[in-house]
Amino acid sequence: MDTNPEKLEMFYEGKAKKLYATADPDLVIAYFKDDATAFNAKKRGTIEDKGVVNNRMSELFFLMLEREGVRTHFVRRLDDREMLCKRLDIVPVEVVVRNIVAGSMAKRLGREEGEALRHPVVEFYYKCDALDDPLIIADHAIVFGWATQTELNTIHESAMRVNDILSRFLDQRGVILVDFKLEFGRHHGAILLGDEICPDTCRFWDKATRKKLDKDRFRRDLGDVEGAYHEMLRRVES
Ligand code: UDP
Repeated sequence: MDTNPEKLEMFYEGKAKKLYATADPDLVIAYFKDDATAFNAKKRGTIEDKGVVNNRMSELFFLMLEREGVRTHFVRRLDDREMLCKRLDIVPVEVVVRNIVAGSMAKRLGREEGEALRHPVVEFYYKCDALDDPLIIADHAIVFGWATQTELNTIHESAMRVNDILSRFLDQRGVILVDFKLEFGRHHGAILLGDEICPDTCRFWDKATRKKLDKDRFRRDLGDVEGAYHEMLRRVES
């Protein structure tokens, strides 16, 4: 095992993670916090051990995706809360894949939460807190220079593959992958999957009971938030 690289200056602090430089300009360290926010940070709180769960679950998902040929920023997990990652020039387009109607799709389109979609739907959002991450079409990203058509094609294809791989894996563990958000970035000319994959960024429902095992428990004050995060990690580790 290599020795852990030294954390240098913190160059970014987001809602759930801090990013630190390392001596290698190509590598960064992500530190996973317990802070939880919802509704563009209008609701704030902490979820005990969330950072530990999200770091470990992201590691397991990234390893699985890499084995299946999806290129990600993951290098290795350093400890409970830290992950070594390739440095990305983030594409400011958040990608949401949906299998079942929930959240903003239910609200925006007046559909019942829980309606199964005939096929997965991929949506793009402009990553901009000041605008509350608006839903966009591909042409907006291209015309404003956020991504090229070629990059969007790669991103779309990768997002669909991630959905296939994770849906199948989770189904075997009694979990429905309802929807999830991905972020991508550029690294030496390649598009890599970045960010994290965890109960903060996915909707997970228990297949038998439809119990929510994700951040909706925090967003909607459903209780047992920590329990749900740990239950999901247990299923992914099994
Ligand atoms: N999501 C996320 N970050 C965001 C917005 C959404 O990780 O800033 C995830 C969310 O957890 C869900 C999916 O993307 O799994 C779709 O979210 P939706 O558009 O329904 O918005 P929400 O109901 O979370 O506001």
